[in-house]
Amino acid sequence: MMQHRFVEIIPDTIEDGVLYISLKYCTAIHKCVCGCGNEVVTPISPTDWKLIFDGKTVSLSPSIGNWSFNCQSHYWIKRNEIVYAREWDKEEIQFGRTNDKKRKAKYYNKENESVSSVTKRPKKKKRWKKFLKSIFSF
Ligand SMILES: [Zn+2]
Repeated sequence: MMQHRFVEIIPDTIEDGVLYISLKYCTAIHKCVCGCGNEVVTPISPTDWKLIFDGKTVSLSPSIGNWSFNCQSHYWIKRNEIVYAREWDKEEIQFGRTNDKKRKAKYYNKENESVSSVTKRPKKKKRWKKFLKSIFSF
């Protein structure tokens, strides 16, 4: 079970079992549900996650695959419940990543698709410039 908390600014200390959601910055963050302590950032955007708020509970779509962490957890947050998905093997992870890139590239060519991959907590603003560069550089 997960709680959600709407915040303006993501706090420095992230509590276990709480999904912090900043609508202002279009991002959500929580501690990996396996207990490894890693912070999972899920940007909310047409190419990242969608946040569904039904007035009581929140869901994130698509699933959250923490393959940049040792724990490799993979789960959904559905109506404040953690729903575990099976672990991905290396090929699938690679495939998922390639797909992300393709889909993002597609999106920026005006085709809409959703995407799932975890990014580490952003370090201020330059990230986006870097990110856009990386998309358009191939
Ligand atoms: Zn974990």
